[in-house]
Amino acid sequence: MSEIYLDYNATTPVDPRVVKAMEPFLYENFHNPSSLYKGAKITKKAIEDSREKIAALIGASPKEIIFTGGGSESDNHAIKGTAFSLMHKGKHIITSSIEHHAVLHTCKFLEKIGFEITYLPVDSYGIVTPDSVKRAIRDDTILVSIMFANNEIGTIEPIKEISKITREKGILFHTDAVQAVGKIPVNVKEIDVDMLSLSAHKFYGPKGVGALYVRKKTRIASLIHGGMQERGKRAGTENIAGIVGAGKAAEIAMEEMEEEKIKIKPLRDKLEKELLKRIPEIIVNGHPSKRLYNTLNITVKYIEGEGMLTFLDFEGISVSSGSACASGSLDPSHVLLAIGVPVEHAHGSLRFSLGKYNTEKDIEKVIDILPGIVERLRKISPLWKEK
Ligand SMILES: *Cc1c(COP(=O)(O)O)cnc(C)c1O
Repeated sequence: MSEIYLDYNATTPVDPRVVKAMEPFLYENFHNPSSLYKGAKITKKAIEDSREKIAALIGASPKEIIFTGGGSESDNHAIKGTAFSLMHKGKHIITSSIEHHAVLHTCKFLEKIGFEITYLPVDSYGIVTPDSVKRAIRDDTILVSIMFANNEIGTIEPIKEISKITREKGILFHTDAVQAVGKIPVNVKEIDVDMLSLSAHKFYGPKGVGALYVRKKTRIASLIHGGMQERGKRAGTENIAGIVGAGKAAEIAMEEMEEEKIKIKPLRDKLEKELLKRIPEIIVNGHPSKRLYNTLNITVKYIEGEGMLTFLDFEGISVSSGSACASGSLDPSHVLLAIGVPVEHAHGSLRFSLGKYNTEKDIEKVIDILPGIVERLRKISPLWKEK
């Protein structure tokens, strides 16, 4: 039985064209870019070519791109880097309650060492209102960090409206755009942010490589000290093959993003429509329209997401019961709780996230199978009997 993979927000397979671009840099072009012979010039140039491609994907200039070890590192670098460089000015940071753990846990760490964090609430769709950001700003606020698109429910935040406020107040603004970059057009000039995180494995590139956009003239502290790689911002011999892969993935995304949307959105819409029709008492989480076109998060009342996940897995269908971090623990997802899903229902949530290798047949199989699974689980659920 071949797998039906519907968890593209967790990670994506590497595009074969990306693997091909990376290959030479694992074999013959292995040279350390900091060395001085011919081989090193090739690897150094490969990194700079890749930097241009990543910059082009988000409308930045190549000098504004720092390669990192992925989305989590980019988030850490933006937030801790700002905190460490501006702590003499203030120690207050504003973020939202639905951020990825790479942002939330970084903020929790900073709280322990004397920073103050405001975790903004969101509305029932998961939207952070620009007005709530405005009201939370204080004289000692040094950074606002609000994600571009949520990984669990797909809601897209009003980044441009928020940046208008931070710009007016002269406060740095970071956005975790890991779920947006490569899926939808993102332009740093247009949204006017100071820092932006992205990760290659969320758009068919390799894992363990990402980038942080840092707007020209923005000074943030380094986290990894050592050599002068990445202009002293991130020491360590570069992950050349990974960086080349990220660049190739960015190039492909730029060219094919629109086609992918045209293919994927109708599949997601069909899945949503049919599941709503066939399963009673389910709720769609996230914003109806301001939502990533590949994401469907549903709450199936009166049963556990883990139960559904197990039965789906048995049929070769891979989905997530919330965020990859939330699943595996028994705590319900912080995102679902923040949008007001009651604890007892939050446990019954499933996230489908589609990608470019999904077909109509994949979706039809889920539509065929899930209603029966829900029925079976509800039959043995005490919650369903009591309702
Ligand atoms: C996946 C993800 C991250 C973490 O990226 P890694 O490359 O896995 O470290 C951060 N933020 C969001 C919104 C994500 O979806």
